Amino acid sequence: MHFINVILPLNLDKTFTYSVNAEEYKFLQPGMRVTVPFGKSKIFTALVVEKHTTPPQLYEAKDISQIIDETPIVNDIQLRHWQWIASYYMCSIGEVFKSALPSGLILESETIISSSHSEADKSEATDEEFLVLEALENKSSITISEISQILNKKNVIPIIQSLLAKGLLIMQEEVQENYKPKLVKYIKLHDEFLQQEQLQELLEILGKAKKQKEIVLHYFQLQATEKKPIASKLLMETSGVSAAVIKSLVEKGIFEEYYINTDRVSFEKEEDYEIHLSNPQAKALENIKENFQNFDVNLFHGVTASGKTEVYIKLIEEYLQQDKQVLFLLPEIALTTQLVQRLSAYFGNQIAVFHSKYNSNERVEVYNHVLQNSDKAKVVLGVRSALFLPFSNLGLIVVDEEHEATYKQQDPAPRYHARDAAIVLAKFHDAKVLLGSATPSIESYYNAKSNKYGLIELFERFNNVVLPEIHLIDLKDKYFRKRMDGHFSDELLERMHETLANNEQIMLFQNRRGYSPYIECSTCGHVPQCPSCDVSLTYYKYKSVLKCHYCGHSMAKPTHCHQCNSLDISAKGFGTEQVELELVKLFPNKKIARMDQDTTRGKFAFEKMIDAFKNQEIDILVGTQMLAKGLDFENVTLVGILNADNLLNQPYYRAYERAYQMMVQVAGRSGRKSKKGSVVIQTYNPMHNTIQQVVNNNYVAMFNEQLYERRNFQYPPYFRLLQIKLKHRDFEKLREGSTWLYNVLKQNLQIPILGPEEPAINRIRNEYIRTILIKIPNNADLINTKKLIKKVLISFEATSQYRSIKTTLNVDY
Ligand code: ADP
Ligand code: ZN
Ligand code: ZN
Repeated sequence: MHFINVILPLNLDKTFTYSVNAEEYKFLQPGMRVTVPFGKSKIFTALVVEKHTTPPQLYEAKDISQIIDETPIVNDIQLRHWQWIASYYMCSIGEVFKSALPSGLILESETIISSSHSEADKSEATDEEFLVLEALENKSSITISEISQILNKKNVIPIIQSLLAKGLLIMQEEVQENYKPKLVKYIKLHDEFLQQEQLQELLEILGKAKKQKEIVLHYFQLQATEKKPIASKLLMETSGVSAAVIKSLVEKGIFEEYYINTDRVSFEKEEDYEIHLSNPQAKALENIKENFQNFDVNLFHGVTASGKTEVYIKLIEEYLQQDKQVLFLLPEIALTTQLVQRLSAYFGNQIAVFHSKYNSNERVEVYNHVLQNSDKAKVVLGVRSALFLPFSNLGLIVVDEEHEATYKQQDPAPRYHARDAAIVLAKFHDAKVLLGSATPSIESYYNAKSNKYGLIELFERFNNVVLPEIHLIDLKDKYFRKRMDGHFSDELLERMHETLANNEQIMLFQNRRGYSPYIECSTCGHVPQCPSCDVSLTYYKYKSVLKCHYCGHSMAKPTHCHQCNSLDISAKGFGTEQVELELVKLFPNKKIARMDQDTTRGKFAFEKMIDAFKNQEIDILVGTQMLAKGLDFENVTLVGILNADNLLNQPYYRAYERAYQMMVQVAGRSGRKSKKGSVVIQTYNPMHNTIQQVVNNNYVAMFNEQLYERRNFQYPPYFRLLQIKLKHRDFEKLREGSTWLYNVLKQNLQIPILGPEEPAINRIRNEYIRTILIKIPNNADLINTKKLIKKVLISFEATSQYRSIKTTLNVDY
């Protein structure tokens, strides 16, 4: 008897055993996919992790349905890494599997698919594939189990897989906008004319048709110089003949047309693009290399615009020369566009990009390139999930902007921190890690200071450009002396006029979207709330609606108070939309644009805006923290932070650290290339320590103050935090359940536990929320503590009256 153990892409913490025949047993290897029946009638894609001959004791092993792969698509290091993630972040291996592979590789019976409506060649489809395509002509989408019925066949996943690969189908959940698989038409001489004699014959036949003869000869010329497939377009362009001539040769059976699926995402290298490091950059690079001899992880702390990117590029180049793979991690969305341009100008199409806005087909393509260790993916530029690509020969991981909060996945599980998971992955590959930031996270700087990581610091900007001068504006004083126009102080306005007069550009930062975060009745004080969440509704003036940022609920803006019928309703606080509207009035002749989640939804919306700003089609760009993410515009010389206070007043132990990072990063967009920049920060608390640290560019003061607080109040890096979130629609049940859980944890663990707490927003989508925060001291036994917590949670879930309470675990919260 032969068995395999597989992981299923479900929230299940164990592997399952299926039986296979002797032949299958011989063929299968860990890391290959099979499809298996699971549950009543469902079929899933599963991953083989083990082969053995012991039948399971508790159930009878079912047969697998089919083998998908001919060779493994997941390697041992990946499996080890998944296991580490599952155990460190306390989630199931199935959840890691599910998020580690592009969804196109783990189809299941409930997966919904649609036609790609592409021009891709349907003639390549097999008979069964054709039936699937036909079914989709009358229906916009269909599940895989429906296809099963149509084909009267249990296992159709391999057929779907093949259709996806041919670009004829797409998965429904994907971003579809502007998606078009690129098919390029190529021309070749028909096989029978490849022999010398036949060719002579051919030329004789064509003797009379001069044009056709010419083009055949031209084809040979091209083939000699190009030494690669000849695109139909190239043949037409270089020979000057029309498509009709080529067509007639195809009809005569002399030429043959065929298609090659070119990469949807490929990049051009700029000719002769060279980088000469400045002396300080060269020294930093030397230090990094030297440090790597003693430390596997190094922190590169370089001020904004010090030219870290160029140092990364030079370092990466050395790993490529040693034929190693390089992973360059960057925070969600914002950074990719510009960085892709800068890196691909240097490395050309050795770069592959792995991005959250790519659809599954595009992701599968990158996955396969990495799997084959292809030249097209020597450097992978990607967001956190790029960690899960099938690297086999990784030499270096760069984690750019390592302080960024988006490196931590919040929902769903695995709730991993990409920087930390990268360090573990690198260890498995015996690779090096470079963390880079102008404002390192407290943890990383602490690790560097306590000699766990190496540290390289670069305190000057490239080209001796000085850091921008920061001007503080006291809003209390300005309002008191009536020196405000809307949300703009006279000083900020004056500098804006000056900047615009010099034909330079401005960025304005406000950390709220919409027109105002809430509206209020001036008579009775009523504030409209979301019916399903414990939050006030954000007002959008342009569309005249109120909207919930947590569940998306929206309603028309009321004309009168729903409580007292008063007509006197006013908008409170302000967001980016309001700033934009004020700007239009203040600067009627200037081009103004807004960059926030509301204006950058489409696949290319963000890219378009960045390009327009770079090309100076926009004079003033107002936006949320999106502006802070590593963007590089040389003509920006003024940055304004309209209200620093709402950055500071956040109920989170990292609030001041984050506020400091945000302000320094936004400020760092000013005066980057040659012109000296300035920054205006408006605040009610100009003497606040954090703001003073920003003004004085004193990272170390911020670090020391925060570290002191963290030690006093038992937070990282001295304690590891583990948050348990409980959710239920019934308030009372939740209160009881969370108290029970808290008490049992308290009895079992001799470490600080806080809660059960009602978070600032204690109801979302009609579910009430409570949290319990466990603080694990650095010297505690982490593995056993987690085991105990798991055990308590299992008994919690086994208690019948609490079973319906949903719990989630967030390690390193
Ligand atoms: P950082 O990532 O440290 O904020 P960047 O790498 O974006 O800084 O560099 C800031 C600017 O200086 C960019 O426009 C970059 O192109 C330019 N720059 C940096 N180093 C060099 C160099 N060695 N040669 C030419 N330009 C450079
Ligand atoms: Zn009222
Ligand atoms: Zn809501």
